[in-house]
Amino acid sequence: MDIPRIFSITESAHRIHNPITPEKLATLGAALRLQPGDRVLDLGSGSGEMLCTWARDHGIVGTGIDMSPLFTEHAKRRAAELGVADQVSFINGDAVGHVADEKADVAACVGATWIGGGVAGMIELLARSLRPGGIVLIGEPYWRQLPPTEEVAKGCLASSIADFLTLPKLLASFGLLGYDVVEMVLANQDGWDRYEAAKWLTMRRWLEANPDDELANEVRGRLGSETERYAAHTREYLGWGVFALMPRGE
Ligand code: SAH
Repeated sequence: MDIPRIFSITESAHRIHNPITPEKLATLGAALRLQPGDRVLDLGSGSGEMLCTWARDHGIVGTGIDMSPLFTEHAKRRAAELGVADQVSFINGDAVGHVADEKADVAACVGATWIGGGVAGMIELLARSLRPGGIVLIGEPYWRQLPPTEEVAKGCLASSIADFLTLPKLLASFGLLGYDVVEMVLANQDGWDRYEAAKWLTMRRWLEANPDDELANEVRGRLGSETERYAAHTREYLGWGVFALMPRGE
């Protein structure tokens, strides 16, 4: 089981597979007031940067689950590199329907809510692994500016304008699901550049090393078109943030 190979190529050098920067990931860890020994569950943990750095900086323990064997391997390597391999573990597998045996202080899905069928489904799934008083973390795009046309939304690689909400509406939607929003850290265009522009050098170098690969034409095409698409669409219209939620009525 694996994710489509194109991601393993374009994001092979990424430590963070989202527009959040290492600095903002650190800001988020501090904002959550993590305590040593806190347990963090991360569905769609990618290359594990959140768990590994929080283990180093805050002494958390935790588990990440990700479908990509490559990213999971990178996560394990990163844990060893940061000296936190005894605190965090990474499992290569499908996170659909995953409920942890041990309740988490923080149950997170940062940029992979489709695993739960969308934001609402993911919150519901994470809540099943959460201890009372714990925090659900959701990383999700929103519209910085509402696209004027469906064409522009597609240029942002959304299937339609309805895929995402504006920031006020997204925040309100958490309330409608019965959650208080208790913190948030938002990405900005510099963060988007780190996520998107980093793919370009990776693609270029991959093409030089793999000119005859069956995906070479696709990657060549992307390298030629992505810069302009990204600058005209994603960078202008799409925001992204991580939202910390606590169920109401506890
Ligand atoms: N949270 C990480 C990764 C986000 S990218 C970060 O912020 O860096 C989305 C991740 O979801 C990818 O690593 C991809 O491999 C993973 N993924 C996609 N479908 C999945 C599934 N069904 N189960 C587990 N992981 C999945």
